[in-house]
Amino acid sequence: MHLAFISLFLYFERCIMTKKNRRSYRFRIYPNPSQKELIEKTLGCCRQVYNDFLSMCIESYKADKNYSIKKYDLVKLLPEYKETFPYLKEVDSNALQQAVIHLFNAYMNFFRRNAEFPRFKKKKNDYGYMTTKINNSIRFIEDDIQIPKLGRVKVKAHRHLPESFKFTMVSVSRKGKYYYVSLMGEEEYFDYAEYIKESLDPNNSIGLDFSLAHLFVDSNGNHLDMPTYYQDSLTRLAKEQRKLSRMKKDSSHYKKQLLRVRNLHEHIANQRKDFLHKVSRKLANTYDYVFVENLDLKEMSERKDKLKLGISIFDLGYWTFLNYLSYKLEWLNKKLIKVDRYFPSSQICSSCTYRKTDLTLNQRNWVCPICGSKHDRDLNAAINIKKEGIRIILNPSK
Ligand SMILES: [Zn+2]
Repeated sequence: MHLAFISLFLYFERCIMTKKNRRSYRFRIYPNPSQKELIEKTLGCCRQVYNDFLSMCIESYKADKNYSIKKYDLVKLLPEYKETFPYLKEVDSNALQQAVIHLFNAYMNFFRRNAEFPRFKKKKNDYGYMTTKINNSIRFIEDDIQIPKLGRVKVKAHRHLPESFKFTMVSVSRKGKYYYVSLMGEEEYFDYAEYIKESLDPNNSIGLDFSLAHLFVDSNGNHLDMPTYYQDSLTRLAKEQRKLSRMKKDSSHYKKQLLRVRNLHEHIANQRKDFLHKVSRKLANTYDYVFVENLDLKEMSERKDKLKLGISIFDLGYWTFLNYLSYKLEWLNKKLIKVDRYFPSSQICSSCTYRKTDLTLNQRNWVCPICGSKHDRDLNAAINIKKEGIRIILNPSK
């Protein structure tokens, strides 16, 4: 009886302490030519199944307005359907099932949540298929990953998966000439929310002020520049895009060039992600708290004429950066704290707290009329954001 009590207690403690996070990890893969062919074939078969089952649903609905579909009834139709098209047996049967389930979900979403009615899939729009892990059907072996039907595919495993990460679904996708595999599942992490205040030091913190030119300026006066290799890629992209715009649409040169532009886009997106991962990791490792402004990027981009902001906010990836930063801090039981959007971080003198209400948007430097401090607009704002962040932690009620 005692033992049972203790194990029950431990069980409850475990429930409180550990949470499960949904996560996915994406890796680049390098399929050989025959694997590439099979991936294309699987994509084509999934598209066919999806579209044919969608027509079937539409027909049944037309015949009987009370027709309601059930997920497993649909899936059960697959074996018979495959008899009609024997080549479907050559691809991962699980991927075909997932295509049917995907259709079912899209169809039900239309009825339940007024989502758009599922559309027929077109070749140019599809670039991935899903499959499930059964027992050990998907696993890493040396420098490869074992994927059903494809066999061992060369993978660039740039990081180790956490021990507690268990994945159940996998997607195989292509973007331009790049191939990826995403492992989707859950991982455990300890929730130390109760202990954070005791173990974190508010002074070991940094304030970041969003900046168009540098992504951000921090309260120590450092600013960030996107690396030159990234700038070079952007220049190259602009050049290739200009070339494309001069070509005759639908000509073979045009198609080739379009592919080149798409590949370059993907390459740039990867460079940006890598860089933002690096920067956010460094900040998360160094500081207990990171304070930022609670920006409304959507609102800002809508005001782009006035502020000369716009698409570049999204180009710089500030949103992605904050997302990376926030979960990296969370993993280390540290905190990202957002300061109120209406906190006048630029107007307050960080030396004497005088507030310069008439500061205009394009005034990059100013001198405090009270204490004479010379301010760089962004640095001053970053220092104020840090001060405000510390105040929030120490006196949350004020
Ligand atoms: Zn002052």
